[in-house]
Amino acid sequence: MKKQRAYKFRLYPDRQQEILFHKTFGCCRFLYNHMLADRKEMYEKTGKTKRLTPAGYKKEHPWLKEVDSLALANVQLHLEAAYRKFFADKKAGFPKFKSRHRCRKSYTTNVVNGNIRLKDGRLRLPKAGEVKIRCHREIPEGYILKSVTVSMDRSGKYFASLLYEYPASENQAAGKDRKEADILGIDFAMRGMAVFSDGSRAEYPMYYRKAQERLAREQSKLSRCKKGSSNREKQKRKLARCHEKVRNQRKDYLHKLSRQIADRYDAVSVEDIDMKAMSQCLQFGKSVMDDSYGAFRDMLRYKLEEQGKELVKVDRFFPSSKMCSRCGNVKKELRLDERIYRCGCGNCMDRDVNAAVNIREEGRRLLMTA
Ligand SMILES: [Zn+2]
Repeated sequence: MKKQRAYKFRLYPDRQQEILFHKTFGCCRFLYNHMLADRKEMYEKTGKTKRLTPAGYKKEHPWLKEVDSLALANVQLHLEAAYRKFFADKKAGFPKFKSRHRCRKSYTTNVVNGNIRLKDGRLRLPKAGEVKIRCHREIPEGYILKSVTVSMDRSGKYFASLLYEYPASENQAAGKDRKEADILGIDFAMRGMAVFSDGSRAEYPMYYRKAQERLAREQSKLSRCKKGSSNREKQKRKLARCHEKVRNQRKDYLHKLSRQIADRYDAVSVEDIDMKAMSQCLQFGKSVMDDSYGAFRDMLRYKLEEQGKELVKVDRFFPSSKMCSRCGNVKKELRLDERIYRCGCGNCMDRDVNAAVNIREEGRRLLMTA
C-alpha cells in the first residue's frame, strides 16, 4: 500500500518568477470562474452539465498558454471535485466563484517525466525554472514526488507544498506481542491541551500564550482603525504577520510533541472525537478550540505510521471518563466540576488521567482483537 505525505518549504522566487507565480494564480482563478460560469449557464439552458477542458479557453484567451499547463489541468480537476462533492452531499454547497481578494493564492502542478526536481536548494518548476527553496527537513529515501502546490500567504511569503508517495511499512506492533506493547492513552482536556495515561500533561508553552495575547491586542487595534485608511492596511499586514507567528509556534510545538510520543511508544490510543461537531455544539471560542487537536492527531498518525506503528481510535461512546480505570465500574453520573475520580474500590485519581488510562486500555483491547 502507498501512503502520502506533504512537506511545506519556503520559496524565494526572484522578481520574474514572482510575476509568473502571480500570473499563474490569476490564470487559475480566471479559468476556474469561467468554467464554472459556463457550466452553470449550460445547465440552466439544457439541464445538463458537460465536462469542460482548458483547451477551448486557451484558444479564446491565448495568454493562458503563458503559464504552466498542468496547473490549468488541475483547475479542471478541482472544479470537477467540487461538483462531485456537491452532488454527493448537498450540504457541501454549490461550487463558488473565486474572489480575487479572498481566495487562496495558489496553484498545483504535477510531476510528469521529471519536469519537477528538487536539488541543491533549488526547486525546478515548469515555466518558472529553478526557484530557490529552503528545505528545513530531509526527504527520506524512497519517497517519490507526485505534485507541488505553490502558494503565497497573506504576509506575502511564498511556499511550496511537495506531495510525496512512500510505501507503507508493515505494522511492527503486529509482529510484537500486543499485550506487551507500550501504549500511550491520550485524553484531550479542555483546559490544558492533553492529559496522558502516564500522568503527565501537555500544555502550550508560555511564549505561545504570550504571542496569543499580543495577537488579541493587534486585533483590537485593527478594529479601531478607520476603514479604508492606510493605517488600517498597515495594521492588517501587522496582524497577518502576528497570526503567522502564532500559527508557526503552535505547529512547531505540536510537531515536537508528536515526534517525542511517536518515537517513544509502540502505539497511541485516542478518542475518536469529531472536533468540528464538538466545537459547534459546545460553542467554544475559536481561540480555545483551534484546529490543533485535529492537527496534532494527524501529525501523530503519520509519524507513527512511518515507523510501522499505529494510532488507535477509541469509539466516541466509550465511557472513558465515567469508568473506573481500576475496577471497571461505570458511574451513572460524573459532574464536570468533579476533577478527582473517586470509586468505591478505593481508586482516587485525577479525572483526566483516569480517562487517559481507560483510553489506553481500550486501545490495547482493540489492537489485540484487530
Ligand atoms: Zn473502582
